Amino acid sequence: IIEFRDVSKSFGELQVLRNLDLHVNAGEKLALIGPSGSGKTTILRILMTLEDIDTGHVLIDQDYLWHQQVEGKLQPASDKHLHKMRENVGMVFQQFNLFPHLTAIGNIQQPQMLVQGKDKADAQAKGMDLLKMVGLEEKRDHYPHQLSGGQQQRVAIARALALEPKIMLFDEVTSALDPELVDEVLNVLRMLASDTDTTMLTVTHEMNFAREFADRVLFFDKGQIVEAGEPKEIFSRPQEPRTQDFLKKYI
Ligand code: ATP
Repeated sequence: IIEFRDVSKSFGELQVLRNLDLHVNAGEKLALIGPSGSGKTTILRILMTLEDIDTGHVLIDQDYLWHQQVEGKLQPASDKHLHKMRENVGMVFQQFNLFPHLTAIGNIQQPQMLVQGKDKADAQAKGMDLLKMVGLEEKRDHYPHQLSGGQQQRVAIARALALEPKIMLFDEVTSALDPELVDEVLNVLRMLASDTDTTMLTVTHEMNFAREFADRVLFFDKGQIVEAGEPKEIFSRPQEPRTQDFLKKYI
């Protein structure tokens, strides 16, 4: 469902992705791990159309999201095309980014009405189902400032799910939380991973979580995938010295 072919990306002098190839099957759950600055977040942002690429191709569902111009054959995608492709993808960020002037249910309702043109009753019904799923039915009329960080992040997850994207991206969703609130958010992700067919990519520094969540773990360093495999292989028998060094700090 996702394909990166020979993708490179720099910010000025700094090359963050180097000739990256990555194929993700529909329904797969991936954990992206690796040192800070290795390019993990940039991959999610490219899929979310928040960043473009310098060279290579990125496809979602066999349709081009980003591509370079090769001998005049391919043109960069139009804004209209990007907008359509963008509907395939939902993202939850480190910071919760809820609309402060809307309640929990309002935050989940509004994008459905604006993006999908649903009427209020339908959007609300779907919103309540999702609030139940993340265990926040009781908080439906609370504003973000009346919720804990963990609760806000669970609302943000429900909001992204409401648009029923084929692909969900989670960018270090627990790293802005107090330690005692981390588990409630990770538990929601664990449940989603086991109960849904949605393709999920998560950037995380929580190795125990990555082990349980992922079908496949990708270890990044300096803009490249150094090692990839099932969690038990990567965590128990890492082959590459760079993976071994990195994991020593966490496990
Ligand atoms: P982290 O775990 O810290 O989030 P990461 O592996 O996700 O790291 P990226 O966020 O992808 O790494 O960033 C890779 C590098 O690119 C970093 O050094 C970052 O500072 C830099 N970078 C990211 N976005 C931009 C930008 N818009 N302009 C300039 N530099 C950027």
